[in-house]
Amino acid sequence: MSHTVPENANDHCPGTESETAGKAASCAGCPNQSACQSAPKGPDPDMGAVNERMGCIRKKILVLSGKGGVGKSTFSAHLARALAAQDKTTVGLLDVDICGPSIPTLMGVASKSIMSVTGDGWSPVFVGESLAVMSIGFLLESPDQAIIWRGPKKNGMIKQFLRDVNWGEAATEAASGDDDDAKLDYLVVDTPPGTSDEHLSIVQYLKGSGIDGAVIVTTPQEMSLLDVRKEINFCKKVGVKVLGVVENMSGFVCPSCSTKTMIFSPTTGGAEAMCEAMGVPYLGAIPIDPALAKSCDRGKSYFEEAPDSAGVAAFNHVIDGIKAALEAEA
Ligand code: SF4
Repeated sequence: MSHTVPENANDHCPGTESETAGKAASCAGCPNQSACQSAPKGPDPDMGAVNERMGCIRKKILVLSGKGGVGKSTFSAHLARALAAQDKTTVGLLDVDICGPSIPTLMGVASKSIMSVTGDGWSPVFVGESLAVMSIGFLLESPDQAIIWRGPKKNGMIKQFLRDVNWGEAATEAASGDDDDAKLDYLVVDTPPGTSDEHLSIVQYLKGSGIDGAVIVTTPQEMSLLDVRKEINFCKKVGVKVLGVVENMSGFVCPSCSTKTMIFSPTTGGAEAMCEAMGVPYLGAIPIDPALAKSCDRGKSYFEEAPDSAGVAAFNHVIDGIKAALEAEA
């Protein structure tokens, strides 16, 4: 049986789901030891409920980044918006960046909370009729509240999101009440930076219902690519297909003189060269655009705020690549 081995695990890791996880001799000195020791062992009794809930979703996409600050959540938000803009397409956006949830602000729903908990679970917050959002940000008393949680509590929250959020409601709403076969078309999962506990948890919890692939967001400079290589190796180890890598913040085009400046210099060839070396698809580059930052701060769609910009054209190119990769997979 395959088992989950994190990228930073010791050699001879017994697997994070094993009875000896965190306690085996080979675990001594591993950075994950305390999380593995405290995690529940053996078959998780909630997995049936998680699988059943996740079974109502056609495509599940993880959005990853090696480092923070590369625009991962901005990308997740716009990927979700673009997918939901397609005819008769329902999309869920799940924010599992437990300690730094920015999706509510990016989607313009930061003032919302989870008002509705029914027998069918938690109702997500809607941004338009075919796009639903869930984030721990909706559970906080104030956006400035710090979440200081250790691994097991964060993992428990992620499981609760996967088990209890009624995404089918989004599908039902968009399908005008026909809930017999309520299926969400896409679930976009915005993850924290790096390869941490949360990543392992989401991969484990979604193993039964399947993950269709991961999109990795980076900036062009080697400092960011260094960690992206680890992210790609993590995906390979845990059996998640890399749909492709996006190079974000890839140059700034001066609106006055049209000169392009690479603010983050691709000293080792940028994401495209790295993708070639690592044998994963390169999805394209998105330039820096002050209009994107402004629309994010205001919780608006960049696609609507700057429809004729080079940045929107670049986003659309990248998202077409993701859709093509998902279709090739089907
Ligand atoms: S502590 Fe966890 S991750 Fe590290 S080697 Fe042991 S089981 Fe693997």
